[in-house]
Amino acid sequence: MTSAPSSEPSTAPSHVSADLPASTEVVVIGAGLAGLAASRVIQEAGRSVVVVEASDGIGGRVRTDEVDGYLLDRGFQVLLTAYPELHTQVDLHALDLRRFDPGAVVWDGSSFATVGDPLRQPSTLWSSLTAPIGSPVDKARILAQRLRLLRADPRRLLRGRDITTIAALRDEGFSETIISRFFQPLVGGIQLDPSLRTSRRMFDVILRSLITGDVAVPARGMGRLPAQLASRLQPGTIRLNTPAAAVSGGRVRLGDGRIIEAERIVVATEGPVASQLLDLPPVESNSATCVWYGTDQPIVAGPLSRPAIVLDGTMQGPALNIAPMSRVAPGYAPADSTLVAAACPGMYRPDVEPEVRRQLRSLFGPSVDRWRHLRTDTIAHGQPRQYPPFSPKRRVDLGDGIFVCGDHRDTSSLQGAMYSGRRCGEAVVSSL
Ligand SMILES: Cc1cc2nc3c(=O)[nH]c(=O)nc-3n(C[C@H](O)[C@H](O)[C@H](O)COP(=O)(O)OP(=O)(O)OC[C@H]3O[C@@H](n4cnc5c(N)ncnc54)[C@H](O)[C@@H]3O)c2cc1C
Repeated sequence: MTSAPSSEPSTAPSHVSADLPASTEVVVIGAGLAGLAASRVIQEAGRSVVVVEASDGIGGRVRTDEVDGYLLDRGFQVLLTAYPELHTQVDLHALDLRRFDPGAVVWDGSSFATVGDPLRQPSTLWSSLTAPIGSPVDKARILAQRLRLLRADPRRLLRGRDITTIAALRDEGFSETIISRFFQPLVGGIQLDPSLRTSRRMFDVILRSLITGDVAVPARGMGRLPAQLASRLQPGTIRLNTPAAAVSGGRVRLGDGRIIEAERIVVATEGPVASQLLDLPPVESNSATCVWYGTDQPIVAGPLSRPAIVLDGTMQGPALNIAPMSRVAPGYAPADSTLVAAACPGMYRPDVEPEVRRQLRSLFGPSVDRWRHLRTDTIAHGQPRQYPPFSPKRRVDLGDGIFVCGDHRDTSSLQGAMYSGRRCGEAVVSSL
């Protein structure tokens, strides 16, 4: 049995308050990354802000819980150090980032092969060249793709003709083998879209980030990212367990009927809720499921003994990305234990654990039977769908003092959420 989870950190931080004023200059609805980023910009401009958050904690889709000494993020999630907003809004040093090895370990149904980035990790050159993930021509095309992305102006990647990622890969001449063994589990895992119907613009942006930076997690869980943003807000800014029920010019009605009057209102909820509150076009969702396992012993041999993401290149799943989290960041598990995340992108399956265990047993052997199932996360709205034609940087000022931000207004990522929040906060400040 696992003990009840507690959100990290356990003590109520000073930015949370229980009192609710009847009026303020700005109300921000939602304390995810976008809402926190917007609030900070507005407060730094000397304006008063009240953040109302429906749930019992900050961070939105980025939260970490402690369960029996293990740190479980709500769904397998990583940050890419190349995201520009991390360098403007976050003290990365204080997050104490722990990095995955570049590339991945790919399971082809009978063996594992390391596909590294030989330019950053020369020791992986031979294994990458011989990995059975595609032909030599595919590997030459990966090199050409890499050069194209490195030379590109990042801003231009989000313009130009837009098609699905899978169509773009076929246009570039990649074989079906490398698409299914490598691109679908890797990029489909990050975008929660194994079908690769997402815009090729987003694919280019993500791939460029993977090439130019590292894949990492904070030493004490992804939740440390929003915790850091929130710690920079003035004491008492955030009200937890306070859902907004309706928004109109100058007024927010809360779930319990109370009203807050405000000169400006920022809706920083996830896309589907924002659409409902503001009568905007619907936002479609990519779902996610993640099964977490703890082992009582360290894993000292095989692919899980390295700080690398394992991809199921057979695409049979249900898990497509398997990550030995505590091998990357030891603080994710108690001493001499291992925490394994088995991520099933694009899926909403609360009952999937027995199937995942059977799959992992076929990859890693009978020791998997002794692994302890710690939790299964299912997230209906993991990321907003971004099918082509996809245009980021959507309008944040809706008029009548109402603003909107979140990953659904920019790119569906941590970067998109933080950028959108900052952009929206700046628009609010210049409107006051
Ligand atoms: C499983 C998973 C894996 C992911 N992997 C990655 C990854 O590897 N890399 C990456 O860059 N991105 C990843 N993402 C996406 C990333 O987490 C999101 O894009 C980002 O966190 C969105 O932030 P946000 O502030 O826009 O929205 P949210 O985090 O959803 O914040 C919205 C907030 O509004 C609150 N709210 C909702 N309704 C109300 C209401 N009526 N009143 C008051 N408050 C309300 C919510 O409780 C929430 O706190 C992943 C997401 C998931 C779920």
